[in-house]
Amino acid sequence: MARLVASRVLDVPDFPKPDVLFKDLMPLFADGAAFREVVDGIVAYHGRDSFDVVVGIEARGFVVAAAIAYAAGTGVVPVRKAGKLPRAAYAESYALEYGEATLEVHQDAFAAGQRVLVVDDVLATGGTARATLDLVERAGGTIAGFTVLLELSFLGGRERLSPRAVHALLTV
Ligand code: IMP
Repeated sequence: MARLVASRVLDVPDFPKPDVLFKDLMPLFADGAAFREVVDGIVAYHGRDSFDVVVGIEARGFVVAAAIAYAAGTGVVPVRKAGKLPRAAYAESYALEYGEATLEVHQDAFAAGQRVLVVDDVLATGGTARATLDLVERAGGTIAGFTVLLELSFLGGRERLSPRAVHALLTV
């Protein structure tokens, strides 16, 4: 699985700003056979019966989350950037290199104790993931797992999320 992801990642220098090497997973999403293998692999890793709903983090996480939910026969819940959700939401802010960002989830997104699989495309510093996992728990969900397609280990996201477990298909 790691080799499959590695073969479908493009390195984009200086995006979204100078000196950042952006990892672009769009080629993986665009390849039907590869995308299916990745989605089925994530469902198999966690076990179809280990989660009740899938959370995707805006925006590329939505792509993966919806496919996993469909494959597993569960629903999907979006965690969105501030101001996008139409009803009462919980908000979590976290620091970026410059400034801060806020993510939100609907307050009634989960039934109490519902088991939630959280997915995103890339784990970098872990700020996005930590805010999301906190939001899920605030909204009454139980974290069943957290999976990313690609982990950038030199940015320390896994340590930031400790003791929560991180499942990455590819770690670089
Ligand atoms: P973090 O909060 O620093 O862990 O950043 C992770 C979030 O930013 C995820 O939602 C990713 O989609 C996005 N992200 C950060 N770096 C990259 C990258 O190199 N490629 C694609 N997405 C990235």
